[in-house]
Amino acid sequence: TPSMTAGINPKNVVGIVTELGGKTSHSAILARALEIPAVVAVSDFLGQVKDGDQVILDGDAGCVFVNPDVSVEKEYSDKRDAFLAEKKELEKYIGQPTVTKDGVTVELVANIGKPKDVEKVLEYDGEGVGLFRTEFLFMDRNSMPTEDEQFEAYKAVAEKMGGKRVIIRTLDIGADKQIDYFGLDKEENPALGYRAVRICLNKREVFKTQLRALCRASAFGRIAIMVPMIISVWEVRTVKEILERIKEELKEEGKEVGDIEFGIMIETPASVIIADELAKEVDFFSIGTNDLTQYTLAIDRQNAKLDMFYNAHHPAILRMIKMVVDAAHKEGIWAGICGELGADTTLTEEFVNMGLDELSVSPGMVLPVRNKVVNM
Ligand code: PEP
Ligand code: MG
Repeated sequence: TPSMTAGINPKNVVGIVTELGGKTSHSAILARALEIPAVVAVSDFLGQVKDGDQVILDGDAGCVFVNPDVSVEKEYSDKRDAFLAEKKELEKYIGQPTVTKDGVTVELVANIGKPKDVEKVLEYDGEGVGLFRTEFLFMDRNSMPTEDEQFEAYKAVAEKMGGKRVIIRTLDIGADKQIDYFGLDKEENPALGYRAVRICLNKREVFKTQLRALCRASAFGRIAIMVPMIISVWEVRTVKEILERIKEELKEEGKEVGDIEFGIMIETPASVIIADELAKEVDFFSIGTNDLTQYTLAIDRQNAKLDMFYNAHHPAILRMIKMVVDAAHKEGIWAGICGELGADTTLTEEFVNMGLDELSVSPGMVLPVRNKVVNM
């Protein structure tokens, strides 16, 4: 599960194989953030290995070899050396701007799930945090984190990132991220169910606690707030009203609140179609291609059997991204991608040409993407 993966100590785990899930399941995303090679959706893996077996795991190609012969072992030990050498080579881009040869700048930032992931963002020179998935603060515990606990977590990230922007996403639970103490009912179609902003607008106290913590932390760095799973202008306006009331409340209590940029995730087909209207309401768009692909192609991102059909390069997705960028620019706001597709270096050039202003990728992908941008 995502919470088990989040709890892994990368010092003790060199690789992960799962029988279930897809490439954009949250367990896979977290493994990527920890730089642990992972292969998902290997059917009956546990029926085929036993303690003491030697296993080679190729996270790029998505294959696993059990007790390989010496030639495969040699091939992979060479591949591993080449991979590490290439990684080392990319360190030359640390401290360099992410600008194309003809002078187009892309903001290259990173995704995190826990405050401690900031260490990797700094190590790989992420220019900020483009997506902080706050739901992981709510997992692996028996009750909600208090306002003060959340405040400390958000403040720590904002401070560690110095003056760089940290985009913090409001709670996105439901679907594959279940939290027992929320007591959510079992649903027939959880991905189409009670999740993210839908829960926040119903459980107002939970939402207000998080927004208060975020507003308070905004006095200690450059915090932006982003809301997931938006499908309507009404939701955006309602969230903005709640946020404004909280800012007032805090000011009345004598607490300082910084300037907060406010954005939304574009991850439903509905939000793409009405992006022109939504752009009038917010400061930025961040495209969540993981969910956008799932909802556009009608393919459950969790379903291991559908991996061969889950094609984030589908022309429908690429056209939608372009539509969103154009709608954003028409209203003078910026647009980025924070889904896994943002790190797909085969598309970097296309994204820059589409006019995307920002790409938010797992920390380990910052330098490979910068390499693409500076050489295009
Ligand atoms: C997305 O859907 O692309 C996204 C970034 O959010 P998550 O993967 O957490 O659903
Ligand atoms: Mg999403």
